Amino acid sequence: MVLDATSSLGAMTGARYIESLKDGREVWLDGEKVQDVTSHPALSGIAHELARIYDLQATDEYRDQMTFVSPETGNRCSISWLLPRSMEDLKKKRRNSEVWNEQSWGQLGRSPDILAPHIITLYNTREALSAVKNPNCDFGENIVNYHRYCTENDLFLTHALGDPQVDRSAQPQNEQRAALEEEVALHVVEETKDGVIVTGAKQLATAAPISNETYVSLSATFVRRADPRFVLAFSIPTNSRGMKILCREPVSQWPGSYGHPLGMLYDEQDAMLFFENVLVPWDRIFMLYEAAPLLQRFGGGINFMGWSNLCRIHERMRLMTAVATMIAESIGVIEYREVGAKLGEMITYTEMWRHAMDGLEHTAFMTEGGLMSLGSMSGMNIYFAQTSARMVQLLREICGSGLIMQPSENDLANPELRPDLEKYMRGKGVEVEHKSRLYRLAHDLAVSSFGMRQEVYEYWHGGDPNRNRINLLNAYDQKDMTGRITDLISRPLPHA
Ligand SMILES: Cc1cc2nc3c(=O)[nH]c(=O)nc-3n(C[C@H](O)[C@H](O)[C@H](O)COP(=O)(O)OP(=O)(O)OC[C@H]3O[C@@H](n4cnc5c(N)ncnc54)[C@H](O)[C@@H]3O)c2cc1C
Repeated sequence: MVLDATSSLGAMTGARYIESLKDGREVWLDGEKVQDVTSHPALSGIAHELARIYDLQATDEYRDQMTFVSPETGNRCSISWLLPRSMEDLKKKRRNSEVWNEQSWGQLGRSPDILAPHIITLYNTREALSAVKNPNCDFGENIVNYHRYCTENDLFLTHALGDPQVDRSAQPQNEQRAALEEEVALHVVEETKDGVIVTGAKQLATAAPISNETYVSLSATFVRRADPRFVLAFSIPTNSRGMKILCREPVSQWPGSYGHPLGMLYDEQDAMLFFENVLVPWDRIFMLYEAAPLLQRFGGGINFMGWSNLCRIHERMRLMTAVATMIAESIGVIEYREVGAKLGEMITYTEMWRHAMDGLEHTAFMTEGGLMSLGSMSGMNIYFAQTSARMVQLLREICGSGLIMQPSENDLANPELRPDLEKYMRGKGVEVEHKSRLYRLAHDLAVSSFGMRQEVYEYWHGGDPNRNRINLLNAYDQKDMTGRITDLISRPLPHA
């Protein structure tokens, strides 16, 4: 991983990204091995859409919004990988995340901008990583070098944290019962002079089939392991030998030139990862046998991941609200009190989110690791897991049956059908094409298998919301208020 000007390629381009995915990775979809993810019908839409956005990094309009000049190589590098050292850096990172999410309509749970902050989080705890001694490498040095490598080559990472969902009764939260884990959870089977050999599986890794690198660590649920062989964090190339990627059923297959824009372009895929005796080189390991640094990473309200997630969610909320408003106008129901109130409720969630985002900037702080972190967002993932489903429901309620009853593009193109469509399926002051395409967008958000996958994603991606609520309760400092209440109820009222 030694870098110099010749091995540092700088900000990713679309063509380089597409080429990088043709590397012999082992991807399985619907019982078959995928020969080339960039041309497979279920994966090419997303791969080429990401390539399109990568290309914006080199345009006059976006260069300064999406890239910075590396002081080490002079290359333009993605701002996603910029180590934030000031408020100005945080603002640059916000704009970069906004661009990624405006371009992808807030539909990408795993844009390349999302995983870079995970590595920056580890970089921030590099001293704690180094404190865990290993004769074969320095984990802190590894993360510094790895961050540099990703920055200078603008790599796209996936991440896999959770264990396979085989028998959770044998894996209660934060405990471990070795017999089952040994069969399913990822663990070290052997050490060699080159690295460690790992076997087991991970459930799951979004965007794995179209990533350059696979970052593997532990989820907050399973971070405390009784057996140290299960404690590990590393990153390896996605084409590493012995790693199988099993895709879920695609939700992207919508034919036609207009079709369903979100479903066609943004099915980022989710995948199981199966590891069979995979070599993880020593210089790619960040944590081994000892979880203390990871526990430190989960604490202290450190938040480098804020912008990528929050900008995505904000964009998604704005999209849902605007689609609902346009549909209410297109069928002449916007004036109704009940519909207006529902739209107002959607705007309330969207505005609350924006205020919270601004709040994170105001509570930003310098970490001990020398980086500028956004303020803590402990409750925000939980809030969105709750409100996302509510917003989808409001959209459904506003749309009525039009959500499913629209003509297809082929119906629209058929001259025999066309007069009926123009008469019976137009909207209030809008042509039938406009109305049906607008409704298809709503269908993508609230009905289609793509929309439902997004909904499931929003609920689970931040980890189990119930566990997060309990963690929030445990970390929430209420001493001031509970003390005052105790005081209030411990003596007679003063003016009684
Ligand atoms: C679309 C999607 C994309 C995702 N992408 C990624 C990704 O890119 N990378 C990644 O690492 N992860 C990803 N995840 C995984 C996500 O982090 C998990 O879904 C989440 O942490 C919950 O874990 P689980 O799915 O294994 O559910 P489980 O933990 O198996 O939970 C199932 C049910 O059992 C309950 N339960 C489980 N354990 C306990 C317990 N000990 N006590 C009480 N109740 C319990 C839960 O509350 C829940 O109701 C993704 C998930 C989805 C749905």
